[in-house]
Amino acid sequence: MDRRIFTVIDSVNDKRKVIYFMTKAFRINNNYSLYFSYNYAKKNNFDFFIYIVEPYELNKRNLDYFYDMIIDLKEKLLKFAKEVNLVKRDVDLDIVLDNVNSIYIDKAYLKFDFEFLLKIKKLAYKNDNSLKEVESNVFVPIRIASDKEEYSARTIRKKIMSKLPDFKKQVLTDEIKTTAEEKAFAVLKDFKDNKLKAYDEHNDPSNDYTSGLSPYLKYGFISPVTIYDYLKPDSSENFNNFIEELVVRRELAYNYVYYNQNYDNFNYMTDDWAYKTMENHIEDKREYIYTKDDMINFNTHDEYFNAAMMEMIYLGRMHSYMRMYWCKKIIEWTNSYKDAFHIALELNNYYFYDGLTPNGYTGVAWCFGKHDRAWFERDIFGKLRYMNSNGLKRKFNIEKYVEKMNRIKEEKENGI
Ligand SMILES: Cc1cc2nc3c(=O)[nH]c(=O)nc-3n(C[C@H](O)[C@H](O)[C@H](O)COP(=O)(O)OP(=O)(O)OC[C@H]3O[C@@H](n4cnc5c(N)ncnc54)[C@H](O)[C@@H]3O)c2cc1C
Repeated sequence: MDRRIFTVIDSVNDKRKVIYFMTKAFRINNNYSLYFSYNYAKKNNFDFFIYIVEPYELNKRNLDYFYDMIIDLKEKLLKFAKEVNLVKRDVDLDIVLDNVNSIYIDKAYLKFDFEFLLKIKKLAYKNDNSLKEVESNVFVPIRIASDKEEYSARTIRKKIMSKLPDFKKQVLTDEIKTTAEEKAFAVLKDFKDNKLKAYDEHNDPSNDYTSGLSPYLKYGFISPVTIYDYLKPDSSENFNNFIEELVVRRELAYNYVYYNQNYDNFNYMTDDWAYKTMENHIEDKREYIYTKDDMINFNTHDEYFNAAMMEMIYLGRMHSYMRMYWCKKIIEWTNSYKDAFHIALELNNYYFYDGLTPNGYTGVAWCFGKHDRAWFERDIFGKLRYMNSNGLKRKFNIEKYVEKMNRIKEEKENGI
């Protein structure tokens, strides 16, 4: 299990203080970073300090949500540590890292987390602290699942699934739960009791059969190991379908951003075949062109897209199938693929509670061919997969989704 630890700096020093920077896993149960740091301090009789680090966010709504959720985190963590501090990312690390033996931190995958890690790393070298990153928020540590960027779900599936037994050990589960953990668990329980049996229909936006766990996973209020363990006795086809999303797709996303730090750069985010096909179709005539403002103001001719934008803006989420449709339409209605990529990322990371995650970057890149395959050639999309509203009408009760979103818009606008 200690293969979850990645030693960045190995140091033997005579200082007597251990620090855990909680940057991604804001919980107690199955928090491997907390478990290792706490036990290391306890074993050596060192003082243990926890720093809860405010996450990087673009939208105040997300930060407010985060603070509401961690309301009692500090208090509950005092059971483990001598001191618990809630700090911003510009905290004076010179002071924090003074006289420290070892630093533990949740593993970084995205650039803004690497930036924070880098600041710590520089000082840790200077101060001769040991520094360890711990992979708490994935089932199988990324470098152990695979030593390279994977081509698709097909190529990573077996590598991850065969290693689950090695990483399913639970830690700190006898401890009390925080408010955020209680809430995450209630959502999980509702999913198990009422939705999992219909998960084969989860693609239908007019139904509500997905788990709604993504914001909880984003902030690490719950671990994928906890979710897996709780649902496991089911072992139905639907359970397997769900694990495909929770473990295979999600950890493929982590694999992607970890091995391709250009995940947010249009020129490097997808595969050669996709760039070639886009190059061949850049001059294709677009029947509709919309700006980001048109999209935000629900001013497109497409009521399904507008409804998806309502869900995004008013509820901070969007049904998984609609996310694909939404991003494909942005490609169709924007003159340059590069602009489309940036508009999609900008909206995704600003409005979604689960934005600014590996899943978001990967989901958008997927719409540009990443982890997908070449399809039949057509206008604008070339060989990129195309989606149209006939598909929505044919497969789902999409009018029900539109009605629901318009109702939510009205309620929100009238303060109901
Ligand atoms: C264009 C686009 C943008 C996306 N943006 C985000 C985003 O910002 N944040 C985000 O968490 N997910 C994103 N996704 C992936 C997926 O749509 C969401 O994870 C899912 O809709 C979240 O709802 P849920 O928790 O109810 O999902 P469930 O169906 O209940 O799935 C359970 C969990 O599995 C993971 N998962 C599900 N589908 C995927 C997937 N396709 N790829 C990777 N992991 C997955 C998520 O962590 C999810 O919480 C995006 C997908 C696309 C196509």
